[in-house]
Amino acid sequence: MSRYFSDKYATLKAYVPGEQPRNQKYIKLNTNENPYPPHPAVAKAAEEAAKSLQLYSDTESTSLRAALTKRLNVSMDELIITNGSDEVLNFAFMAFCDKHTPAVFADITYGFYPVFAQIDQVPYREIPLQDDLTIRIQDYFQAAGTIFIANPNAPTAIALKREEIVQILEQNPYNVVVVDEAYVDFGAESCVPLIREYDNLLVTQTFSKSRSMAGARLGIGIANPELIRDLKTVQFSTNPYNIDSVTMAAGTACVENDEYNMENCRRIIETREWARQKFEELGFEVTPSRTNFLFARHPEISGEDLYLKLKEQGILIRHFSVERIRDYNRITIGTREDMETVIEKISRILKA
Ligand code: PMP
Repeated sequence: MSRYFSDKYATLKAYVPGEQPRNQKYIKLNTNENPYPPHPAVAKAAEEAAKSLQLYSDTESTSLRAALTKRLNVSMDELIITNGSDEVLNFAFMAFCDKHTPAVFADITYGFYPVFAQIDQVPYREIPLQDDLTIRIQDYFQAAGTIFIANPNAPTAIALKREEIVQILEQNPYNVVVVDEAYVDFGAESCVPLIREYDNLLVTQTFSKSRSMAGARLGIGIANPELIRDLKTVQFSTNPYNIDSVTMAAGTACVENDEYNMENCRRIIETREWARQKFEELGFEVTPSRTNFLFARHPEISGEDLYLKLKEQGILIRHFSVERIRDYNRITIGTREDMETVIEKISRILKA
């Protein structure tokens, strides 16, 4: 830290993303990317848009929102487009939390939430998951703060039913409830259909997982027009041109070909279920996943040991050193071939 770094950030612990090695070719199962490339129309649209890069991008992301209205069955003013869903989540911390309105989230959830709270200087309260790593919804009733729930949760992979989120919404009429649906397309129930009934609901989604566009950085906020306007105020006060025009064109082409994305999700779910069974046969305890990853532990090998041994053999998975989940690893679902390789390597490690 330089002597010029503001005191207000002196204790800030930055978010640590999963490794993105550039030096060696790994089978990369550590950051929940999609193993399939985007639809060919995406690169074509990006190339075309690159010809007009002398112009600023559209601050309203009009083409992309228009494509999404049909896909999500919402109207233009119920959508905001952001630079990854990390940006809309940060906007939500900025817009809907302050020193009187703390952020409230699970103790084991997306690791960026406490970092957003710290950088935005809002207090936060962590609610422990139950012993089986599930959320007890009653713990979120009358929360006296802005609630952030990843559904499905990460890294546990476990989802709440839409009906359970409805109960949380009903019990929090004075609080904003943010439902982070980064992984929803892999088999969970979306809360998007609830936004007209609950004016305190903000749903966030991403192009990084089910839409194969992690490198492009696109996120979506879906809520009633008033909440969206608040988020737009934050956007226009930080980065009005938050989406570049190449990404916007690429994202629009991506949504116009969403059937391709959903077919890839079906393949990933099929591979996940196959892999889950193989992991269980090897003696792993695996949480019920509604995501594109498995969260698993083995009675005979520590999470860290397994992570390191696989890394030596060219496979990256994610290990968290947080006390409660240090026995576990998070393994992204790759292609069937990737999963066959990882399972074979793990079975050899366990036999050694
Ligand atoms: N929410 C959750 C639960 C995530 O795991 C991630 C991915 N790291 C994000 C949000 C952010 O994804 P992105 O910024 O790529 O949209």
